[in-house]
Amino acid sequence: MKKLIIPFVLLISSLILSCGRQDSADKKVWAWMSGKTTMSPDQWEHYFKNASDAGIDAIILECHGGYPEVLGDSTSFRDSAAIFIVKRALEYSQKYNIELHAWMWTTNRTEMSLRNAHPDWYQVNAQGESCLDIKLYNREHYRWLCPSRPEAIEYLKDRVAELAEIEGLAGVHLDFIRYPDAILPYGLHESRNVVQDRVYPLWDFCYCDECRKQYKELTGVDPMDIEDPTADEQWMQYRWDALANMASEVAKEIKAHGKVSSAAVFASPEESKKLVRQDWANFKNVDVLLPMIYHKFYDWEDQDIERATREGVEALKSSGSKARLTSGLFVGHVPKERINEFFNYAKNGGSKGVCLFSLELVERTEGYWEKLKEAIAVYKQ
Ligand SMILES: [Zn+2]
Repeated sequence: MKKLIIPFVLLISSLILSCGRQDSADKKVWAWMSGKTTMSPDQWEHYFKNASDAGIDAIILECHGGYPEVLGDSTSFRDSAAIFIVKRALEYSQKYNIELHAWMWTTNRTEMSLRNAHPDWYQVNAQGESCLDIKLYNREHYRWLCPSRPEAIEYLKDRVAELAEIEGLAGVHLDFIRYPDAILPYGLHESRNVVQDRVYPLWDFCYCDECRKQYKELTGVDPMDIEDPTADEQWMQYRWDALANMASEVAKEIKAHGKVSSAAVFASPEESKKLVRQDWANFKNVDVLLPMIYHKFYDWEDQDIERATREGVEALKSSGSKARLTSGLFVGHVPKERINEFFNYAKNGGSKGVCLFSLELVERTEGYWEKLKEAIAVYKQ
């Protein structure tokens, strides 16, 4: 009898323990934050101390964005500035026991060293124009690598590796892992002054020589000759697959260094495929997918956070993905008096934890740190 009781007691206590662990992972609070080489010790201290006080578990720190800083040799590909930023931040993340993830832009790469050396790796639209030669959406930083180029994938793996090998770093986070917007999120059309009732050739990428060659070998068709490219399932699938392959390969490199791989993706699987040709339910090797459910940019109601979260969770289940989904919320769309309501939309949709964009927006909104601390305490109960 004694023999039976002991294992039973062990079983119950291990169940309780594993439930406890599950709960804390399920309610993990992440936040995105921008990092600069020029930040003072006081600034680093301020953000990490406040984040720790508020109960934030993980910070995703931007170290390579649309305007990457350059330290040392400007022709070098090694991203010394990103490495510097991450190492500086680690001093504070370790002091405050916050997990640190290095956030880099992925297909959207603006570094001049790369643009000058390999212009042919960049995407081309259905009018035959390289994104290096036009200012898409009037944005200087809209310069996109083609996912069909094996050399571009190798380049990104090198950039990931030099970050992932930093001791103490928890993970590497892939942002802008997509094509440029074929259609902008609906709530942005007016402010950006675009009419996008359908996909127009100016915004339809990638028709570079490599993509055209590969697709022609595969199907006998030059994608330039396709009359309605958006309605052509095979051509859409080719582009979804090319990007999913790039994401999977780059994420594999992160994991090869024993680090957590994560990616910021568009709000729901179907919108992502349609707007930016990002089939993220089929990204392999990504441990945590963070759909940016910035609902007002899509003209959605607050409750749509729950629906979009659920669609993501279900898409991952259908594709057999083991990635954890954590809903990203835009602080500017989450009033400080109602933070828990929004956390609950994510939770009820099946999100494991939440991620806030961004700590700078929290900082800029009067009284948000205090309300966030209260909300996180309630959320984690
Ligand atoms: Zn291409």
